[in-house]
Amino acid sequence: MDNESLFNEEVEPPGSLTEMVTPENNPSPVVIETLLHDSPIDLSGPKHRAPCVKSSRSRIFCKKFYPYTTNAEWNDWHWQLHKRIRDIHSLTRMFQLTEDERNALVRSTGPALPLSITPYYASLIDENNAAQALRRTVIPVIDEYFHAPGEAADPLSEDHDSPVPGIVHRYPDRVLFLVTDFCATNCRYCTRSRIVGGHHDLMKSGQWKKGIDYIASHPVVRDVLISGGDPLTLADEKLEWLLSRLRRIPHVEIIRIGTKIPVVMPQRITPELTRMLKRYHPLFMSIHATHPDELTPEMGQACTRLADAGIPLGSQTVLLYDINDSVETLKQLFLGLLKIRIRPYYLYQCDPIFGSSHFRTPVSKGLEMIQGLRGHTSGYAVPSYVIDAPGGGGKIPLLPDYVVGRDGDDLLLKNYEGQTYHYPDGPMILGEVH
Ligand code: SF4
Repeated sequence: MDNESLFNEEVEPPGSLTEMVTPENNPSPVVIETLLHDSPIDLSGPKHRAPCVKSSRSRIFCKKFYPYTTNAEWNDWHWQLHKRIRDIHSLTRMFQLTEDERNALVRSTGPALPLSITPYYASLIDENNAAQALRRTVIPVIDEYFHAPGEAADPLSEDHDSPVPGIVHRYPDRVLFLVTDFCATNCRYCTRSRIVGGHHDLMKSGQWKKGIDYIASHPVVRDVLISGGDPLTLADEKLEWLLSRLRRIPHVEIIRIGTKIPVVMPQRITPELTRMLKRYHPLFMSIHATHPDELTPEMGQACTRLADAGIPLGSQTVLLYDINDSVETLKQLFLGLLKIRIRPYYLYQCDPIFGSSHFRTPVSKGLEMIQGLRGHTSGYAVPSYVIDAPGGGGKIPLLPDYVVGRDGDDLLLKNYEGQTYHYPDGPMILGEVH
């Protein structure tokens, strides 16, 4: 395939999926046993596809709303993309909508973030309970139309730090490379809602090339974070084209991909994809996870495939009011992520995009979360709590105050149980060695 044909400027990238079952891409029985205890592997699809997990919840949902859909279709990410729920009529068929949700959907005109939910992610949503955490992250409510003071379309001033379209160069040695405006499922609190679901030029061949040229001509850039939209909505060939061009640049040491695909459309993580990705190491992945309800057998299988391909996995979670802002919820999420080899990396204070005040917690709540986790569970399960500073200041880490004062040369420190300890922090005095 020539380079130009990879850039045919579709909004929804298609691609062909032909997975051969080989010993390499068959999931390990041990993994299946530990991760997928409530659901058998679905082996009923055509022989040319790799085995794909389908949880009991997905089975029930699929049977109810897509009765003529085969397991092979449900497990095909192209089908999932094609069947995204995008309007009030489809939603009404599946969910008991509240008046608030209806009003928000009816009012949804103009440049607002479009509704988009994969059937798989819809299967995780409670049909009758509008207060359910996952439901609130993807179905709009009328609060989205209220703009609070301090909110903006681009609160992080990414556009200001963009030397060429698609590149955000804010930190000294790394860049953000926005390669698509498309996501499989749209999060209502999305920091890039100004871009996502729009018709921007991020997919045009010229834009990608400008971005690659910028990186190639800046030897200071040793780390490239590919994001969007969601880069894993791109067809394998397009993604590989991008990765191969970046890998040819000698000073690019690591490549990272930011994605929510393993969570909202785990069917995308095929053995073919992971075989391709592992050719471009060191390649890292930051997975956007919100709530323990997302930790399904399907997600487990997708992350196992990524981890088995040697891709270090980290998570990013946005702290959301009444959705995941309790220590118990976050602890369940972070410990669950660790079990599928994802290291909780960032807990973000929700960015002040337009219409997001109903999602934001006070900063004190974030500090309370960290205080409730640090020391109480494995350090690996405690991410860094950060605020991405409005105006383009970058990520600023926040920690509860563990230093409570001094006592002479001693530093007074408070531990996770609230007890105070002395640490000798005076000037260094070299004495006799005994
Ligand atoms: S997956 Fe990420 S980029 Fe896409 S809508 Fe959600 S937050 Fe925005």
